Amino acid sequence: MIFRQLWDKESSTFTYLLADEASGEAALVDPVLEHVERDLALTADLGLRLTSVLDTHVHADHVTAAGVLRARTGARTHFSARGGPDCADVLLEDGAEVRVGALTIRALATPGHTGGCMSYVADGRVFTGDTLLVRGCGRTDFQDGDPEALWRSVHEKLFTLPDATCVYPAHDYRGHTSSTIGEEKRLNPRLGGDATVASFVALMRNLDLPPPAKIHEAVPANRACGRVTRDP
Ligand code: FE
Repeated sequence: MIFRQLWDKESSTFTYLLADEASGEAALVDPVLEHVERDLALTADLGLRLTSVLDTHVHADHVTAAGVLRARTGARTHFSARGGPDCADVLLEDGAEVRVGALTIRALATPGHTGGCMSYVADGRVFTGDTLLVRGCGRTDFQDGDPEALWRSVHEKLFTLPDATCVYPAHDYRGHTSSTIGEEKRLNPRLGGDATVASFVALMRNLDLPPPAKIHEAVPANRACGRVTRDP
């Protein structure tokens, strides 16, 4: 599998390019609107054809490039069936599979950060969105966020993957790029080690974070697959 991790400095978002070398088919996970040209240039440089775009959730901190990439390349856009936008080509249920040439990407419903969060498993890697970050997790105080659901998603879904599975999150704010399931089970201060569901829920209910700077622009735009509408 061809694999690249890309970065948006403004929102600290990671975008991932996954491709099957033999067929030349490629997928992007969580592409950012401002980086359409970069991502299309990389795809072309590597001799690949973009066939799928997958969002891990309806983001509150940046606008997805899904709609623009679909218009430019014909790629199909994928979101969770739970709370996903009507404009998506494919609304994924838990366990659904997306084919990219010979590569299979499996969707795992991992609600908690938002009600419609999906993680994607492919070739020994898991793209965890904001459900599981390196030594952390996404907040749970808006968009149907629910700390108990996030705990269950991590413990009943993500932590049952093999320990060697590489964890690729949607964001990092401290300079990390990846981890493994085994590492997070031992070392994640919120969700691993001797953390309990009670300690986790109490912690998440008391974070008291300010809202993301772009939430009022990003959520409506992402519900329209990345069409930015501005007030007249
Ligand atoms: Fe998020």
